[in-house]
Amino acid sequence: MRKVRIEVAKSIGFCSGVTRAVKIAEETAARYGSVQMLGDIVHNKIVVEKLKEQHVEVVDDPQKLDRSKPLLLRAHGTILEVENQLRQQGYFLIDATCPLVKEIHREAIKLENEGRRVIIIGDHGHDEVLGIESRLKNPVVIYTADEAEKLSFEKQYGVVVQSTQSIQDVGKILEVIAQKCDDLHFVNTICGPTRMRQKQVKELALNNQLVLIVGSSSSANTLRLLRICKDINFNTIQIETEKELQKQWFETVNSVGISGGASTPEYVVDAVKKSVQKIFESLLN
Ligand code: SF4
Repeated sequence: MRKVRIEVAKSIGFCSGVTRAVKIAEETAARYGSVQMLGDIVHNKIVVEKLKEQHVEVVDDPQKLDRSKPLLLRAHGTILEVENQLRQQGYFLIDATCPLVKEIHREAIKLENEGRRVIIIGDHGHDEVLGIESRLKNPVVIYTADEAEKLSFEKQYGVVVQSTQSIQDVGKILEVIAQKCDDLHFVNTICGPTRMRQKQVKELALNNQLVLIVGSSSSANTLRLLRICKDINFNTIQIETEKELQKQWFETVNSVGISGGASTPEYVVDAVKKSVQKIFESLLN
């Protein structure tokens, strides 16, 4: 008799920073009638749509902001000049920046105050990285070991990392930098929730024949989990909701691991688990 197993990672649902930002957005909208923000609160369409119903509005163009409504600064931080400008223009700002992102800002500034040029290991153009860059005088952003190979290093450097990077990738980049630079101070600013999720996803990849990563393809941390998992278990698939599940994926596997990105709500992961259960039941009957 065929036995099947579904293993859901312990850390699912929003990370602490996203939970906090969503709560602040909901509370602000309830208190003031609505709240606006520049860009999505998280990279997850389902969450953004649900929040819209609670009058949490996304504005893409700063010219279209409404000065009579509170304006929320999102979890991954805001470019300092933008923040200052909005403040000067008299906007009522509500700061939902994750405390762990603020910690990266502080660490980066500290390194700069030690006389070091700061290297940010992170995704070029990502909001969080732009926010860190904007607080520094002359930072350099590096995304891959290849990019580090091409750079020449002359003086003292300090390194911080975007909160959702993978420690393996960071290790490879650091190896290259360390060979080229004599005086390097590395501060590992990958946040605790990310480290935990990445550790668990590796275990899922080792323990299961198929792994599902639930999250939006516009979410960098979801895609990173997908890649980490795929490096160990090629049979890893990213889906946004249970509607994308295909019966044939489960015909020949007996164990399925499920994890999700930091901006994927827990109920979406639960719905995926339930649908997988149903598919297995239909295949076993
Ligand atoms: S991933 Fe980490 S740093 Fe980013 S919002 Fe979540 S808890 Fe904060």
